[in-house]
Formats: sequence, structure tokens, C-alpha cells
Amino acid sequence: MTNVERVRRKARQKLAEQRGIVRSLLKTREQIVGSLFVRYAECGKKDCACSRGKRHGPYYILSTGPGAQGGSAYLDSIQAGRAHRLVRRNREYRNGLRQLRRVNADLVALLRRYRNEMANRGRSMLGLSAARANRKKSLV
Ligand SMILES: [Zn+2]
Repeated sequence: MTNVERVRRKARQKLAEQRGIVRSLLKTREQIVGSLFVRYAECGKKDCACSRGKRHGPYYILSTGPGAQGGSAYLDSIQAGRAHRLVRRNREYRNGLRQLRRVNADLVALLRRYRNEMANRGRSMLGLSAARANRKKSLV
């Protein structure tokens, strides 16, 4: 297999990978950018059970970070269950984006390699020797 064929084959594999990632990202529905915390608290009253270690709670707090939509909110246990799934979905989405960025970078590197191979062929069509920089196999 020639270098060019290898590059073409790898680029096609990366394209399929990219397509799969984009597809699964587009399937992702409702999500929340934020974190869910569980807190227990002491109220400070002397005779309360919480002063003997049995603290109040759990309190579920959704923190949605800085920005216009940001802030924190107390949730009941049903909301907390939903929020847990929404937060996790967003984490998966971010992982997908990270994966996509890697695949895109691989594709760009492969296409550069392809261009170098083709540029060498172009030079040889004119009877010129291959460009020195492109002789190195270390690209990509
Ligand atoms: Zn208390």
C-alpha cells in the first residue's frame, strides 16, 4: 500500500469516527451545565438532634455556575434525581466534544500529509525533485 493510499484510508476511518460522534452528540437531549451537591446541616439549636450528630438533610443543591443563567437552587429529591441525569448527560456531551476535537485534529494532520504527498507528485510532474521538508516521514 502506498503512503497516499494509507492516508486516504485513515482519513476515511476518521471521517466515520467523526460522523459517529456528531450523530451521538445530536441525539443528546435535555442537559444542564452545572453540578449537583448534597449537603447536611446543623441548625444551631441546642436541643436539636443535629447537635448530637444527626444533621438535617439531605439538601440537594444545583449549582449552575457564573453567568446570567448561573446561580444555585435547592431541589427536592425528585428534582435531584432528574438533575443528576441532566448533569451527567452534559458531562457525556462535553466528553463527546473533546473526542470530536481530537478526531478533527487527526483529520487536519492527515489532510496536510495528503497535501504534501500530492505536492511532491506535482513537483515530479514538472521534473523537479521532491521538496526536502516533505521527504521526512515524521509528518503526523
Ligand atoms: Zn437541628
